[in-house]
Formats: sequence, structure tokens, C-alpha cells
Amino acid sequence: MDSGPVRSVHAAAAAPDGALASSRSVAIAYWGVHLGCLLAFYTGVSAADLALLAATFSFRVFGITAGYHRYFAHKSFRTSRGFQFVLALLGASATQKGPLWWAGLHRRHHAYADREGDVHSPKQGFWYAHQGWIFDPRWTATPEEQIRDFSQHPELVWLNRWHVVPPVVLAVACFAVGGLSGLVFGYFISTTLLWHATYSVNSLAHRFGSRRYETPDTSRNNFWIALITFGEGWHNNHHHYMRSARQGFFWWEIDVTYYCLRALAALGVVWDLREPPAALLEARTPRLRDAA
Ligand SMILES: [Zn+2]
Ligand SMILES: [Zn+2]
Repeated sequence: MDSGPVRSVHAAAAAPDGALASSRSVAIAYWGVHLGCLLAFYTGVSAADLALLAATFSFRVFGITAGYHRYFAHKSFRTSRGFQFVLALLGASATQKGPLWWAGLHRRHHAYADREGDVHSPKQGFWYAHQGWIFDPRWTATPEEQIRDFSQHPELVWLNRWHVVPPVVLAVACFAVGGLSGLVFGYFISTTLLWHATYSVNSLAHRFGSRRYETPDTSRNNFWIALITFGEGWHNNHHHYMRSARQGFFWWEIDVTYYCLRALAALGVVWDLREPPAALLEARTPRLRDAA
């Protein structure tokens, strides 16, 4: 793999042992949670387990899409320092490492989209873009230079370091609420579904769907991915204008995250939601290409 022309290259050469050990720990945790799903065959499932699954999936998808992605990576709306930390905690509970790591690497994805230096381009292979990159020692460290703005806040730096705390608290809470089946459905299965929903934006939404805008990358708009990721599937829109708090640019492009943000804005919890420029919407180009 090419490490790209960037200063922040977390090449294995920079910290070979630490980075490799860290990527091994990630692999053990990642596949361990997948294996934990199999306990469902032993525990069975109840309506309460499914309700817990729906709840922990939904609030954590929101933590990733509204928190890690639209707020920390793109600053597409503003909020208080207190709610900023709530968003960081929700995002961290999704078990996708800390907010500074996630948002920093995501900024890099946009800066190098589908070119050398991209963190997860399908041009490096579909499965690498989907999940292989998270085990790559080059991406173990937080890319400090990409996320200096939020690195000023000590509570975020703390959470970025101790990102395992929210997932562990959530797993324990699921066990306390629903016993072993609560842990299996509320944490193991929920987390596995959440991971693959999030990662499908990096893999599937760069391969399958339509392209409204002729962006220099392979991003696509995909209705189904937008549904399961609460709006992130409008990925071609997003690559074209990434600062927007809404990724569904038109009323028929369902974007649940944006609806939730509008509700929070009505309550005064968040504000200054960035919208796509009107000229951009009026001058939209016809679909360039449809794929399977
Ligand atoms: Zn992308
Ligand atoms: Zn983005």
C-alpha cells in the first residue's frame, strides 16, 4: 500500500511495534464481537431484546452520523461544549475508536478521495475499503494535524484516548438490563450491524448507486444505504458539498439524521445548520451514471 504524500503518515515504520500491536488488538476485538453474535443461538431472543437492539443501534448510528461525521469531521452545525461532549460519547459508544481519530481520518478521506493517501478507497480493494483499513498499522494513530481544532479540548483528548470506556459501559448496561441475551442483542449484534452499516458508506457507496454530481472521486448516491445509515447514503451529494448538515439535498432523499438535527435545532440544542447553496441545487446536473 502506498502511504501517500502526507506528513501524517502513520507508517508502520514510525512506530512498528506499537502500531502492529494496536492493529492486532483491534482485530481481536472486531472479530470477537462478531463471534459474540453467535451466542444468540444459545440465548434465543425476546421482544425486549429486539427493542434493546433497535435502541442501541439507532442512538449510536446518530452518534456516528451527526456526531463523529457531520459535527466533528465537517463542522456542519454548531452546538454547546456540553452537547459536543454528548455527541462524542454517543459516537464513541459505537465502538469505532475516538472522535479525534475518526474525524481526523475522515477528513483525510475527503482530502485524498480515491487517490493515493486515501484511508479507505475501493481502488485498494472492496474489502480493504469496507473493513481492512481499520487493521492497517498506518491508520492506528490519531492524525493530529487533521484535527487540531478539536484537539484543544481536554475532555475530547481524554475520550479519544479512553474510547473503550463508553462501549464497555454500554455492554455492561445491556447485560444489567437484559441478561446475556440483552448483551448479545443490545451490544454484540447491534454493534456488528452498526459497523457494517457505517462501513458500507466507504465501500458500497463508492461503488453502487447513481452520480448526480461529477465529483473527482467514485462516490455515489444509494437509497438503501441512506436508509440504514440515517442519511449517509447520499454520498455523492456529500462529496460534492461536504459542509452541509443535510446529505439528502431534496425532499425525497430521506435523511433521518438531518430530521433529528432539525428537531434539536428547534429545541435550541444545536444551531447554525449549514445548508447546500441554493444555486447548487438549482443547477444540479442530471444523473451521470447508474450502476447496479
Ligand atoms: Zn466517501
Ligand atoms: Zn464526510
